[in-house]
Order: sequence, then structure tokens, then C-alpha cells
Amino acid sequence: MTSLVTSANVESRASAAFLGFAIGDAFGATVEFMTEREIAAQYGVHWNIVGGGWLRLKAGDITDDTQMSLVLARSLVKRNGFDAQDVAEGFADWLKSGPLDVGNTCRRGIRRFMTHGTVEGPYSEGDGGNGAVMRVLPVALATLKRPELGQAWAVQQGHITHNQDKSDAACVWFMRLIQQALLTPDKTVLRALADRWIEEHPYFRYTAYTGPSSAYVVDTVRTVLCGFFETNTFEDCLIRVVNRGGDADTTGAMVGALAGALYGLDAIPKRWLKALQKEAREEIAALTPQLLRLSVA
Ligand SMILES: [Mg+2]
Repeated sequence: MTSLVTSANVESRASAAFLGFAIGDAFGATVEFMTEREIAAQYGVHWNIVGGGWLRLKAGDITDDTQMSLVLARSLVKRNGFDAQDVAEGFADWLKSGPLDVGNTCRRGIRRFMTHGTVEGPYSEGDGGNGAVMRVLPVALATLKRPELGQAWAVQQGHITHNQDKSDAACVWFMRLIQQALLTPDKTVLRALADRWIEEHPYFRYTAYTGPSSAYVVDTVRTVLCGFFETNTFEDCLIRVVNRGGDADTTGAMVGALAGALYGLDAIPKRWLKALQKEAREEIAALTPQLLRLSVA
């Protein structure tokens, strides 16, 4: 009986993680590329999903962060596990569909696949953007009970577009943190895991971080971890991180996943759940249990 209760609880928090991710994307996109000061001048505190921003979104629209994560999630379910070729084909179809926004490194990697058919580019110090780590959540769900496999898949999915050591480290450790939050929703445990992460990779140090919240993977991770550990509710966490501006859709999405995993569905403000684009909300609800099922295969 206990295990049934636990697994229902894990499934519910996994849904909260994926919904939290999409909500963070839709919420943050409004203020992407703005500075903290510009946001404060325009919104006071940005606290509702209202669309707009440089992409002129409708309220609740998701961007590339969620779209690429959904491509990966669909492929994992369809192929019954990670298949780099199938994921890359999914990215290529997505790129050809003319998305509103695509990161430069993502675009280059997908074009390389379309031209040469390779699912991994050569190592490049310049591939230090957050485009690989931003879409690692589906792997975290699909390998929840198989963490070793998850590490390999996290890096391989990243290498389709980003082949760089800090990006790899972020993919692996961020995935671990999400998995830990789902299995042990206890901030002390998560803090200990984050401490191990920082011990191995000190450049991700995040305590009292006030530096840039840019798309550079190190800045992104530091912004996300700082916002996550220095707040105590889903709502405060997302508001804090997104109001820092910069790459706010991606930092919002990543911290939304982490906060969703820890705080659970009931902690997500109803106004945000309601505002999220219906198709995305429904697809996430359908895919999440299917991803979790893979993790016990
Ligand atoms: Mg985006």
C-alpha cells in the first residue's frame, strides 16, 4: 500500500515538474532580455502570465524550451527509450516548422544533423549555452529509477546541439537534482546534493548569486539554484527568478521544473495553470506517466 501511495505521489510531482517547466517558460518569456531594472519600471513585480515580450506571445504560449523538451519527450515514449537519430529528426522537423525562437547553437546543431546526419558535433568551447540543459527534464523522468542510464542519455541528448564540458556537467547534475526532488522532496537532501555538485564543479557556486542571468550555462544554473534554494514556495521561486530578467524563459522553465518536483501540483498557482496554453498542458499531462513508465522498464 505504501509503495502505491508513494508512486502516485511521485507521478503527481512529476506532472508538477513538467507543468512547472512550461509555466516558467510562458511566464518568463514576457521579460526575456530585459534587465531587472527595466522589469521593475514596467511591471513593478512581474507576477502574471501575460504574453507579449520580444516574441509578442499570446498569454500562455510556450517557447523553444518547452517545444524542444516535448520533441524529446515524444521520442522517448515512441522509441521506448533514447534514440538520438529520432530525437534529431524531431528537432529537424521542429526547425522546419518555423518556430518563433531558436537558440543559435541549437540551430547550428540541428542544421549540422540535417546536412551531415551526425547526432553529435565536435567538442567546442563555444557550445556553453543553456540549450542542452534546458531540455533535460524528460530524461530525468524517463530514467527516474535508472540514474546511470539517465546520465548517459542526458549528455547524449545534449550533444545533438551542444558538446562542451560545462554544458555536460549541467545536464547530468541538473537531471540528478530533479530526480532527487521527485524521490525525496526534502530541501536538506537537495541542498546536500547541490553541495556535491558545487564541490565537483565550483564554477556553479550559487549562494547569494547576483551576477548575470544570461544564456551562458554557468550563469543560468547559478541563477536557477540561487532562486530555488533562497525561496520557499513555487510562486515565490518563479517570481524571484523570472524578475531577474536575462534569459528569463529558460531560467524560469528550469526552476519551474525543480520547484514543481519539490512543492507539488497543489503549490502551483491556479492562475498560472489556467493561463498555460491548453495543448501544452494536455500533452504534458499525457506524456508524464508514459515517461515515468519507461523508468521501470
Ligand atoms: Mg525560449
